[in-house]
Amino acid sequence: MGCSSGKLVPEPPKGGVHAEYVKTVFPNDYYITKFNEVPNKGEYSSPYSQEGEGGQGGRRRKPAKYRTRIDPRVLAKYDIKALIGRGSFSRVVRVEHRISRQPFAIKMIERRPGAATIAETELHVLRRVRHTNIIQLMEVFESDDKIYMVMELATGGELFDRIVAKGSFTERDATRVLQMVLDGVKYLHNLGITHRDLKPENLLYYHPGTDSKIMITDFGLAFARRAGDDLMMRTTCGTPEYIAPEILCRRPYSCAVDMWAIGVITYILLSGTMPFDDENRTRLYRAIIKAKYSYTGEVGMENFKGRKGRVFSPCQA
Ligand code: ADP
Ligand code: MG
Repeated sequence: MGCSSGKLVPEPPKGGVHAEYVKTVFPNDYYITKFNEVPNKGEYSSPYSQEGEGGQGGRRRKPAKYRTRIDPRVLAKYDIKALIGRGSFSRVVRVEHRISRQPFAIKMIERRPGAATIAETELHVLRRVRHTNIIQLMEVFESDDKIYMVMELATGGELFDRIVAKGSFTERDATRVLQMVLDGVKYLHNLGITHRDLKPENLLYYHPGTDSKIMITDFGLAFARRAGDDLMMRTTCGTPEYIAPEILCRRPYSCAVDMWAIGVITYILLSGTMPFDDENRTRLYRAIIKAKYSYTGEVGMENFKGRKGRVFSPCQA
């Protein structure tokens, strides 16, 4: 897996598969700087609340840079509790409905070039889907600078973290997880939707128990076919370690690319290692294109470095 969460966009290839055709839109440092300055790791405090501004023996603390203005309409309805996720273009907070006290997640995406397209894509898909293994969109707030997606809250964490904690899964446990992912993906494919970024970070456990269901999230790179659209997609996007060979070869591709990613996830679940893992992008892509991997069974976690995947954007097919 890659080591940061920066979104990357491809440039047209000059021939062959080269790391150079990937360009960073928003440098990773932008986020790293912000994260290092979070005063209470993972905790979010609203700029509208009193917390965090005074305190500390009366010394006024400099507000953490990741703090952001939240639309008053959102704050009027939801109490912001904690920062629970941060992606390349988004921040996800756990909130509580002020009247019902029901918990939800709100994904906030800034209206910046690149991010806005991702938000629109995600909304377009989420508004169409309703399935037990897919995170449900509840409502949307739009302001001049951000889009707020209120979603069902998954409290069990990412599949990614369970793999890191467990090492690898038994065949029985892996089958259970994969069955749920496949149910969700089958539903999506039947609707003409290709996720294009399936990976353990985007598969969430609904609750912390071992019997929890899995829910697919993050439709920022998804493609939803409209009537009359070509069956095939063409945009190079995804997360390098999970990306299918046909995408890397810049051939028109189908929803089968999700099945490739599920194959990679299956390998990780069973072995605790990545089938394709190379810091060098060119070598990584070469290995994927040649399907050059070997399976030696359960190895342990030393090779699954607990690093999260980088993402290729943009998402027009
Ligand atoms: P990005 O497109 O930036 O990767 P994601 O939608 O994947 O954004 O959200 C980033 C992270 O936030 C997820 O990997 C997950 O840990 C957390 N997250 C997202 N949605 C939810 C949710 N509905 N419930 C709980 N956690 C969530
Ligand atoms: Mg994600």
